[in-house]
Amino acid sequence: MSTGHLTIDLTALAENWRALDAMTAGETAAVVKADGYGLGTAPVARTLARAGARRFFTAVAEEGAAVRAALGPGPMIGVFSGHMAGDSELIRDHALTPMLNSVDQVLRHFETLPQHPFGIQLDSGMNRLGMEPAEWAALREPVLQQRPALIMSHLACADDPDHFMNEKQLRAFREMTDGLDIPRSLSATGGTLLGPEYHFELTRPGVGLYGGHPFADARPVVTLDLPVIQTREVLPGETVGYGNHWTAQRPSHIATVAAGYADGLPRIMAPRLGLWHGDQRFPLAGRISMDLITVDITGMEGEMPEFLSLLGPHQGVDDVAEAAGTIGYEILTSLGARYARSYLS
Ligand SMILES: *Cc1c(COP(=O)(O)O)cnc(C)c1O
Repeated sequence: MSTGHLTIDLTALAENWRALDAMTAGETAAVVKADGYGLGTAPVARTLARAGARRFFTAVAEEGAAVRAALGPGPMIGVFSGHMAGDSELIRDHALTPMLNSVDQVLRHFETLPQHPFGIQLDSGMNRLGMEPAEWAALREPVLQQRPALIMSHLACADDPDHFMNEKQLRAFREMTDGLDIPRSLSATGGTLLGPEYHFELTRPGVGLYGGHPFADARPVVTLDLPVIQTREVLPGETVGYGNHWTAQRPSHIATVAAGYADGLPRIMAPRLGLWHGDQRFPLAGRISMDLITVDITGMEGEMPEFLSLLGPHQGVDDVAEAAGTIGYEILTSLGARYARSYLS
């Protein structure tokens, strides 16, 4: 077997959902867009449903249909991008609940699928999705008569608890929705951690479920072990990899492992990344190539292991993200299709 082994701990996933659920008085949904943040729609959604989640969210209707296929009838499956032209059949056939984002989407929904459940997404300041306050003011009476399942908005800076934007958006959301007897949702993972005034009736965490920042107490969900294909000794002055980017300063021991930038491991992180064997860290030697990484394992004690660990107890998704100058979300959702995946439950 020469592919990396990606292990997804479904027990940890369920525990993270329960831990976030325990922080709020209201209901906790689960965001499973982008193939369950790269970990697999069906196993992720089924695990979270068993843990107690009754509402799920995806980015687009096609993903919603995949979640419905995994879960069967019952749970609400919300679609953040709303009701797009051409989506009516998917929405109807898979009983999806689009979060309507604009006047156009509201008209489309009421015309093509009257009586079909929907939610409303309002813009409270992020300026990405949702109706502006003025649009909402114009539409709210007829929309409320159709009883939306949910009114939601999204925070732009919730991963920074001290950011002025959090309170500003909270105020804007309340101005648009106070006094209505429709369930409300403002917070993803970050907002859930900001405290009860951000919770409303429903929170909708994503990244925290999968073990990522800003949920600092999350249990890690993924481990990634890369098989060692071969090892060699190199002498001082010899180089390793593309561009002669690394030169041995001493007699060195190099391991070549199977994974590369085609597996979602950004090339840019090479100088800051290590691979692990037990409690020992070994730096990369030279560039990350498409399918291979070379590691300086000089000084490794004992027998050469079958695998070196890229994601594990000493180096999590956020550590790898930091080495790559990105966020854990991007590392998770880029996890390669070539890995052999196994699920622990
Ligand atoms: C992705 C997303 C979420 C989940 O966000 P996390 O930061 O991953 O918890 C919630 N709501 C909306 C609208 C989103 O786009």
